[in-house]
Amino acid sequence: MSKTLRIVILDDDPVAGTILKAAASAHASSVSHILNPDELATAVASGCDLLFLDLVMPERDGIDVLRAHAASASSFPPLVLVSGLDAGILETAVHFARRLGFRVDGALCKPADILDVGRLLDNLGRRRSGRPGGSQQSLTQESSARCLEAIRNGELFLRYQPQIDLATGRTTGAEALVRWNHPEQGELQPLTFVPLLEEGGAASELAQYVLLRALSDTRQLRQTWPAFRVSVNVHASVLRAPEFVERLLSALRTENMPAGALCIEATETAIVDDAPDTLENLVKLRMAGVQLSIDDFGTGHSTLQQLLRLPVNEIKLDRSFVSRLETSAKSRALTHGVLHIAAALGASVVAEGIETSEVHATLREMGCGIGQGYLFARPLTLDALTSWLGQHVP
Ligand code: C2E
Ligand code: MG
Ligand code: MG
Repeated sequence: MSKTLRIVILDDDPVAGTILKAAASAHASSVSHILNPDELATAVASGCDLLFLDLVMPERDGIDVLRAHAASASSFPPLVLVSGLDAGILETAVHFARRLGFRVDGALCKPADILDVGRLLDNLGRRRSGRPGGSQQSLTQESSARCLEAIRNGELFLRYQPQIDLATGRTTGAEALVRWNHPEQGELQPLTFVPLLEEGGAASELAQYVLLRALSDTRQLRQTWPAFRVSVNVHASVLRAPEFVERLLSALRTENMPAGALCIEATETAIVDDAPDTLENLVKLRMAGVQLSIDDFGTGHSTLQQLLRLPVNEIKLDRSFVSRLETSAKSRALTHGVLHIAAALGASVVAEGIETSEVHATLREMGCGIGQGYLFARPLTLDALTSWLGQHVP
């Protein structure tokens, strides 16, 4: 992690605070330890990029501290919550802090040792360096009209993140992820412009671009790797549009591609709304042989009953569960549950966001079929994907 990081630790226990301070010092430019919540405002104001907040303190505990600062949660430094209590309580506290609007970057069970703290700060450093940078935030100033122009000017392109069969290590396909090659700001991540397009009514134009590009690239890849499958993300409004299925099937015909080579990823919220138009399109897609995947599974509000009514082939287990598999018994239980439900539905499970070999091994032991994540590959350009496939599909 960058050594410009300024860390503040709020912990009433002098010994625990000192240990934490020693462990964090190797990763930060400054670490200050305060014992009392009254000192917090001053410590934060004088410069803090990460706050370690102890939950159990006399008089005012960590939850009271969060409540007291809730009004300024969005401008508060990112948090790491620390506690000697049961891991389940720590998880609920993390959830509570996020609901109040705080950014929580981690949780640490006491007694924390130097290795735990080092690992947490290293992971955080890697995540932060992979995050959209400051200039990308300013893109929210861009209008949706400018984004639409970007599609028409050919400024968008696709990256592909490989999906790996966890049992054999072979690559089964890839997810297409859109990027904007912005003339001034360089490569922009989808979260900075896709919502603008979708809210500006241009979701179907984006979907059309992504679909045609992905199918044409896939046709080319399948000449060498005939089993290669591509997954494409589709917004709820596109999924219920009357022309969606016909356009998609006509694109498949144009590229002379079998429907099974394409998987449509839609979020849980997009497909469980029970709108007849959406259901009609889902059924038609499946009847044509196109695969259907529920993206970010576990983050929406679907019930099992809704899930049973949907014609899904695949469930994508959200990375918020996958990344916590090693530390959270609840995430492990949920993953087991999803694997059982998927098996009963005849659907496969793709685990998103696999970053460590420990998580990879756990998922493989649990019987999860497919995985995707930085451990294997970041989203790649078409050229980079082509070389990747050369090495990973014997
Ligand atoms: P998603 O569909 O859930 O895509 C997975 C996201 O997780 C990708 O981010 C990918 O780069 C990231 N990711 C993959 N492995 C890891 C990992 O190991 N660690 C971490 N921290 N992240 C990982 P990306 O490319 O920034 O896309 C973000 C979201 O933007 C996508 O989430 C999807 O919802 C949306 N999106 C991307 N392309 C399109 C598109 O063509 N159309 C639409 N409608 N949405 C898109
Ligand atoms: Mg997706
Ligand atoms: Mg996802």
